[in-house]
Amino acid sequence: ARELLEHSEKLSLVGQLAAGIAHEIRNPLTAIKGFIQLLKSNVSDKPYYYDIISSEINRIEQIIGEMLVLSKPKEAQIRPQDIRPLIGHVATLIDAQAIMNNIQIVTEFEEELPLLECDENQLKQVFINLLKNAVEAMPNGGKLTLQVAAEAEGRQIAVRVIDQGCGIPAEKLASIGQPFYTTKEQGTGLGMMVSMKIIENHDGTLSIASEEGQGTTIEIRLPVKARPKESPEVEEYPPRTGH
Ligand code: ADP
Ligand code: MG
Repeated sequence: ARELLEHSEKLSLVGQLAAGIAHEIRNPLTAIKGFIQLLKSNVSDKPYYYDIISSEINRIEQIIGEMLVLSKPKEAQIRPQDIRPLIGHVATLIDAQAIMNNIQIVTEFEEELPLLECDENQLKQVFINLLKNAVEAMPNGGKLTLQVAAEAEGRQIAVRVIDQGCGIPAEKLASIGQPFYTTKEQGTGLGMMVSMKIIENHDGTLSIASEEGQGTTIEIRLPVKARPKESPEVEEYPPRTGH
């Protein structure tokens, strides 16, 4: 059975998130402190201590890097974008990793695609996250299909990332996108959360269909026209007729 889950209303998780970040950053910090103590007290050279410290610092960097997207104070830069080169660019970024893993990337773009009002960098971040996950789900190679189509009479664009990887067990679907949920040794468990947040900010939806051992399809739907920003000064209607 294909399992389907809607994720549009998922992200009122700020408190949970803060606790998670504190925890995730404290662990590597504790390790770093410990190894620095060891280095100080130990006369003999322990070069691998430096490697451990280095890799723990990398981990903190990675976590902070993913968090920055969420905490960026500046507003999204919404502009009309051609989605083809945007996705093409991301596919190029992931190409080396795909080739090394014996993965073939196939793109299926509809001919006539409307321009999409979006924040280019944020959407790139989403597709990088999704493609990375797809590649990581196929350690023994396979096909990674990127489909882009116009939907709803050209009012929406659908992007589907289809892999032939390990799939996601039905009982785990609800955990995807929760902060720090990961099944990977080196995972941060932040990629999906960040992606869902960005799609939500664009008034879009992200849905996951997956079958264990068969693969996963992630479909993103975005309205072509961004919702205009509400102006803070709304005139009362009907106008007040004070005497
Ligand atoms: P990370 O990749 O660091 O683990 P993500 O938030 O990107 O964190 O993904 C969370 C989890 O969701 C992954 O660890 C994996 O278990 C699952 N997942 C996401 N995408 C896929 C996919 N395409 N195929 C299989 N599992 C996936
Ligand atoms: Mg990921």
